[in-house]
Amino acid sequence: MPTAQKIANFIANEWRSSSADQYVDVANPATAEILGKTPLSPPQEVDQAAQAASQAFPEWRRTPATERVQYLFKLKNLLEEHFEELARTITIECGKTLDEAKGEMRRAIENVETACGIPLMVLGSFSEDIAPGIDEMMIRQPLGVAAVIAPFNFPGMIPFWFMPYALACGNTYIVKPSERVPLTMQKIFALIAQTGLPRGVANLVNGARDTVDAILDHPAIRAVSMVGSTPVARYIYARSAANGKRAQCQGGAKNLIVVMPDADMDMTTRVVADSAFGSAGQRCLATSLAVTVGEARQAFSEAICDAAQRRVVGYGLEPGVEMGPVISPQSKARIEAMIASGAQEGASVLVDGRGARVPGYEQGNFVRPTVLGDVPLGGEVFKTEIFGPVLGLIHVEHLDEALKLVNSQEYGNMSCIFTSSGQAARRFRYEADAGNIGVNIGVAAPMAFFPFSGWKQSFFGVPHGQGMDAVQFFTQEKVVIERWPKEWTRKF
Ligand code: NAD
Repeated sequence: MPTAQKIANFIANEWRSSSADQYVDVANPATAEILGKTPLSPPQEVDQAAQAASQAFPEWRRTPATERVQYLFKLKNLLEEHFEELARTITIECGKTLDEAKGEMRRAIENVETACGIPLMVLGSFSEDIAPGIDEMMIRQPLGVAAVIAPFNFPGMIPFWFMPYALACGNTYIVKPSERVPLTMQKIFALIAQTGLPRGVANLVNGARDTVDAILDHPAIRAVSMVGSTPVARYIYARSAANGKRAQCQGGAKNLIVVMPDADMDMTTRVVADSAFGSAGQRCLATSLAVTVGEARQAFSEAICDAAQRRVVGYGLEPGVEMGPVISPQSKARIEAMIASGAQEGASVLVDGRGARVPGYEQGNFVRPTVLGDVPLGGEVFKTEIFGPVLGLIHVEHLDEALKLVNSQEYGNMSCIFTSSGQAARRFRYEADAGNIGVNIGVAAPMAFFPFSGWKQSFFGVPHGQGMDAVQFFTQEKVVIERWPKEWTRKF
């Protein structure tokens, strides 16, 4: 068995061992092999990172944006060179299949590429002669030190929704990965070190709750981006705001999709199966409930149960595997308990993924795809985020009722409609209360030049991550008014 990897912090361009007295085991979710131990870094180490980032800020800010992005071009090339290895690391620590991990790294790189356009994106505005001889302008300036607190399910991609934009805009940065999946960022920071980025511009601190609190309370950290579950997102947003920081916190989800009777059933089934069971359902854009309308019921229910049963479950590094394990034994137990409580509250267990065993991987946290029929409205399965490969079915007679169900959820991350009717699709796009909408397609993470939206209890803040929203978040606007009387300028 390979020896567990040492997990260190990267502060002021040095790898530093943490002085933590507590560690969290990092285990491969398919094999239970211990891969490393995440140090729960104490507040002094957050302080060291914040100080290094503060010291780096004045010089980094003064570096022209065109020069700053040269480091991102280098990083993009290094990420491409190490693409396969990074994707494998994601599979090994997080459980998703290698293809899914490659998709994740591709989107991470696309964010680096988009941020390379910062010199254009960060342009201000200028208005001459708002009154005779008086000009007014708006300049975008960086904030200072910013930080991201990331979840377990996309160890490679999520910090890239924020970090490349923050750096390109002239901020300095701290990444706090999920304590459950710290290995991918160890590799990525080794590549960041190779870009020659000046000392202290990008820093990495590992840890969990107390490390996060130290970030939220640190006076030098001006802005916090966070992605994770809704209760934690709400907490981080409130504590950041109480400390006068900018915050954007992306929370959990409970995503409904609607299948109309005129949908192309083969395509819909394929897409919904990928959306519900891809990454073992551990995606904030995963389909959680499918609402069939009118005659769609029987055909869709039969087809999706068949797709669920046929999905190939196993170790994500093995060829042909379509779905990996969930992150931890606790997660597996929680998901299986949710399936049981669904059955107790009256749902029918059409495909039961509990008690899954994958030969050769008996220690893995596998839950097979599960389909629950006739999910009772307002019950646990209807309203609670399961974050596992469990799809609930609900039947209604009209699109009106389906839209009501979509909009009754406290979350608002994603919703989709499958139909060949332009009228139904247009109405759905217009009326569904969710930040990401799909029409005949499951929603994947939006392209890097669009914001990663989210509404209601799925997002706390104003500008989102990625693209121009990130530029807005990582810059502050300065409005300058100047008077240059005619008599003065005529002298020259
Ligand atoms: P989590 O909320 O448990 O952890 C997220 C981060 O917060 C981690 O870095 C963790 O160390 C930290 N944290 C956890 N508890 C904390 C506490 N009490 N105080 C301070 N910090 C704390 O989330 P997770 O289980 O890692 O990720 C899964 C969740 O993330 C799901 O709910 C999923 O929907 C959500 N998610 C949302 C999006 C989105 O874009 N909206 C994307 C991915 C994941």
